[in-house]
Amino acid sequence: MNEDRVTTHPAIAGRWKGHVNDWQGCQACPLGSMACHHVLGRGHLPCDVLLVGEAPGSEEDAQGLPFIGRSGRLLEAAIGRVFSEEGRSVHAFVTNTVACAPRDEPGGKIRKPNGAEFTACSPRLLDVIDLACPKRAVALGRVSQDVLRRLHDAGHLKCPYSYVYHPSYILRQGGSVVCDTSVTRFDGLVDRWLKDLQKALFGENL
Ligand code: SF4
Repeated sequence: MNEDRVTTHPAIAGRWKGHVNDWQGCQACPLGSMACHHVLGRGHLPCDVLLVGEAPGSEEDAQGLPFIGRSGRLLEAAIGRVFSEEGRSVHAFVTNTVACAPRDEPGGKIRKPNGAEFTACSPRLLDVIDLACPKRAVALGRVSQDVLRRLHDAGHLKCPYSYVYHPSYILRQGGSVVCDTSVTRFDGLVDRWLKDLQKALFGENL
């Protein structure tokens, strides 16, 4: 997940371009007209692991990339640590259940996305899943888990999926991961999060 934006295999580069053209100006739900950017994703396509968060935050909205705020930096550090411990890495792609920052008014406070917004944005997520063709999917937080469960139950997500805490939850609990070599422990929460992330990234059969 070190790529700034999106690296595509040449065979699907045109399809990704079409995806961006289709969705970057989407107004299928009210969030589109309030967004600075439609945040479509970053990483490798196709990928080994598809990471799905809840929704863009204010920094992501401003810059057009997912997981670049405090939560994103924590996730990046955690993934770096897991890769370092494993001595190997995987190709990953990260996106959200909705592409636009959820607000009730332009410039307003970010809130959780609602059911109508999930539904409106689900064709985009399904197209990402199709492009990503992941071996595993990882829900970052309960909201994403519910969305992935529904897609899996409906047969749209064919690979196994797992759940790990959203990095913002770890931050709220006072946990942190510092570079690749040291972990700030918080009642075992960070250790557990890293172990869950390791299993989710590399599969259960380590
Ligand atoms: S959240 Fe999704 S459906 Fe709603 S406007 Fe943005 S891209 Fe379109």
